[in-house]
Amino acid sequence: MSTEPRRPATRCAHGGASRRGPGGANEPFQRPIAQSTIFDLGTSAEAEAIFSGAHKGYAYSRFGNPSVEVLAAMIADLEGGAEALVTSSGNAAVLCAVTAGLAGRDGPLVTHHDVYGGSFELLRILSSIHRVPVEIVDSTNTEAWLDAVSRAGAVLLETPSNPLMRLIDIAGTVARAHAGGAPVIVDNTVATPFNQRPFDFGADWIVHSTSKYLNGHSDMIGGCLVRQENLSAMHRTIHKNLGGTVNALDAWLVQRGRRTFALRMEAHNRNGQAVAEWLLRRPEVARVHYPGLATYPQAELFRRQMKHGGALLAFELAGGEEAACRFLDRVGLILHAVSLGGMESLATRPAMSSHRGMTSEARQRAGVSDSLIRLSVGVEAIEDLFADLEQALAGRPDARPVGG
Ligand SMILES: *Cc1c(COP(=O)(O)O)cnc(C)c1O
Repeated sequence: MSTEPRRPATRCAHGGASRRGPGGANEPFQRPIAQSTIFDLGTSAEAEAIFSGAHKGYAYSRFGNPSVEVLAAMIADLEGGAEALVTSSGNAAVLCAVTAGLAGRDGPLVTHHDVYGGSFELLRILSSIHRVPVEIVDSTNTEAWLDAVSRAGAVLLETPSNPLMRLIDIAGTVARAHAGGAPVIVDNTVATPFNQRPFDFGADWIVHSTSKYLNGHSDMIGGCLVRQENLSAMHRTIHKNLGGTVNALDAWLVQRGRRTFALRMEAHNRNGQAVAEWLLRRPEVARVHYPGLATYPQAELFRRQMKHGGALLAFELAGGEEAACRFLDRVGLILHAVSLGGMESLATRPAMSSHRGMTSEARQRAGVSDSLIRLSVGVEAIEDLFADLEQALAGRPDARPVGG
């Protein structure tokens, strides 16, 4: 058998399946779902060995669960990190990573104002109720951003940002943060490890909402955090006691989704690029935000930092808020729904959905206009996507296809 390391697409396709252990009986190819709260601790001596860590074992599923550990190992492998922790949502992963990142540090958690709406809300709670110092900076002002980063306790950044697809230079941020001793957490949900490798640029932590591309099937909520280096006992204690533990079935679903991850991402990237270029040629569309476009303002950083443009994009309609609402009323194949990263194409108006928790002033500062539509491009046949976009933009009253 070849001893060459297998390529990521191969590891995705085979990941999670078990093989016969040395001397053991044959095993089911698909891993069982360890749907159990508790585990048999055995004798007092065996229980002691499990609790002390002298012997690998399980006690209670919030502390550890075989199905969850299979997924954690897979996610660490996907991102090229040492170890990962799995959580019940992307928000729980952000909470864990921010808590771990700030531990033993004096400065504020520095982030940018166009961070994901749920993360923004979470940080607002941390700062207003728990008095965690949080500094929210306009990352498009590079000087202000790097200055804040150099004084940070920890940094949370998201690139590309959601929904405006702005990029932040990971390597440049890491250099300044590390000079002051601050760890850098990168939310890689939108880019995915297929399109962007934050650890290659020195990031310390990566967080994901697995509800999006990693699971890819729009049938669960989950998250994870990955560390470039090994996790400490403190990191595990934070994860265990903050309580955002994933259940075995949801962990199992994500490990199954990972088997088609490489295939799905190839299709997502192809469709995302095609749709962005198509929209750019439309007179109804005033502006397209997509990093893979030749006209993209941060094209140089895109080439340095990302492998592909992905499948999330946003566009502004020339007809303003009214045209944006009409577009959402008319899409047929494309579903009007929040979230992203599933195999089906989804459209939303961020001002009304993901960003409605922000004050309108904060939203304006973030550049989220009322006519902005966010599109998560799925893996459908591209001709069907073009046809649906065409009829939704044209706005002819009889054009909506039946049974979309
Ligand atoms: C969805 C999302 C989150 C939050 O994840 P949940 O699974 O909804 O808790 C965090 N960051 C980004 C970029 C997201 O898209």
